Amino acid sequence: MSETTDIVVIGAGIAGLITARELTRHGHRVVVLEARDRIGGRTWTDHRLGRNLEIGGTWLHWVQPHSWAEVTRYGLSVTRGPRSEETYWLAGNEVRRGNLEDFMALINPGMTRLLEDTMKWIPRPDTPLSVPGIAEVDQFNLQEMLDELDLSVDEKNANEAAWVGHFNAPLIHCAYTNAMRWTAATAGSWHLMHEASAIYRLTDGTQALVGAIAADSGADIRTDSPVSAIRHTSDGATVTYGGGQEITARRVVVTVPQNLLHKLDITPALPAGKITPSLEKAASRGVKAWIRVRGPIKPFFAYSSQHHPLSVVRTEYLGENDAVLVAFGADASRIDVNNLEQVTEALKVWRDDLEVLEVTGHDWMSDEYSEETWLIQQPGQLTNYLQAQQASEGVLHFASGDYANIWAGFIDGAIESGTNTARNIHTGLQEQATAPALQEQS
Ligand SMILES: Cc1cc2nc3c(=O)[nH]c(=O)nc-3n(C[C@H](O)[C@H](O)[C@H](O)COP(=O)(O)OP(=O)(O)OC[C@H]3O[C@@H](n4cnc5c(N)ncnc54)[C@H](O)[C@@H]3O)c2cc1C
Repeated sequence: MSETTDIVVIGAGIAGLITARELTRHGHRVVVLEARDRIGGRTWTDHRLGRNLEIGGTWLHWVQPHSWAEVTRYGLSVTRGPRSEETYWLAGNEVRRGNLEDFMALINPGMTRLLEDTMKWIPRPDTPLSVPGIAEVDQFNLQEMLDELDLSVDEKNANEAAWVGHFNAPLIHCAYTNAMRWTAATAGSWHLMHEASAIYRLTDGTQALVGAIAADSGADIRTDSPVSAIRHTSDGATVTYGGGQEITARRVVVTVPQNLLHKLDITPALPAGKITPSLEKAASRGVKAWIRVRGPIKPFFAYSSQHHPLSVVRTEYLGENDAVLVAFGADASRIDVNNLEQVTEALKVWRDDLEVLEVTGHDWMSDEYSEETWLIQQPGQLTNYLQAQQASEGVLHFASGDYANIWAGFIDGAIESGTNTARNIHTGLQEQATAPALQEQS
């Protein structure tokens, strides 16, 4: 006889932990099966380079409604890195130097024109498919939309580099609708979108949020428990995990990232609307690197181009004798973020005066439990698949930051999706419980 419970949640990332917390609150017995030896998934605070660094998801903001509700609930606080005193960018092969305002002024015309139809196509980010015709716009990639603007070389380079920082992929692979969804979430303001996505981080790290949700959930969370198979019927599902253990539940919530879904052995099989995007993969495929350099230095921000191994770098921590920089690149196959020589070489595009002391990062693309960074969709994926990805299949439910409406690909989206999924499951179980009684009464 296999073990039984009410609900099994697969994955202890933020979506899984939120789902578990919301369901235990309603009195359901929940078992969370997590493949890794830690919880948090694509958020991971780790002590490296002498500081608690965010190896994955980091920044959040008060315009992210689900994240901010959790910040308030647990009494968390946010902080930010030092303001940049110098900014570098490239025009062709030439390095330009100024302040952050100069760079923002340079990208402003491009950003404004690129995003001017945002509120026409996505007036309500919580229902991103509501406007007829969005499917046609969803065919465009961000590169072709930028090319159409006929920007000067300086402006084009700068706009591309800024978007690579956001999208973690060569822009030709990224749907233009990603840019509009992010901007719609900030009511059309690209400045606020920039701030929301990359400035404020939790003072005590994402580990504080993850730990608080897990402690609050009261769920039975089992790490080192990779799930390999799910067999489901209309009555329930049996999940195989670890070394072949089985657990049966009335409902199962799958929270693995989009790129991994096709790897689970699920019987009966999932529909194409869920499996095809998993096989196609998300557009995002880049890197995040942490770099400790000898100090003192002035805090700086630097943008190169989407073709360089590192497209964006900035000072995130400033010490008396050192500084820690955070950097992003479009393609994980171009640079090993744990290789000091490669990272030092990549920094030279802007400055060769920095002495790199240590580097670190994580290759999320070859991590077997993510194979993904933060979700950026390819052209067509939003309109072809989002609804199918969000839908339940009998007793199987799907929660993920990848499947959110408003801030898809963000911590906020994982909370949104987990909250919705838990509510749907609880409501469904309640209806099931009251249905026979109602039938008897009538
Ligand atoms: C480098 C990087 C930077 C980012 N920056 C930001 C940012 O600044 N701000 C922001 O809001 N977001 C950011 N994100 C995105 C954010 O971290 C994610 O969107 C969010 O954490 C996703 O949560 P999730 O629960 O949906 O997925 P995940 O965190 O991926 O959770 C899924 C869980 O399932 C587990 N799992 C996978 N396969 C199995 C299996 N077979 N059996 C059992 N368990 C399994 C995984 O180990 C994982 O714990 C970033 C992500 C990365 C990688």
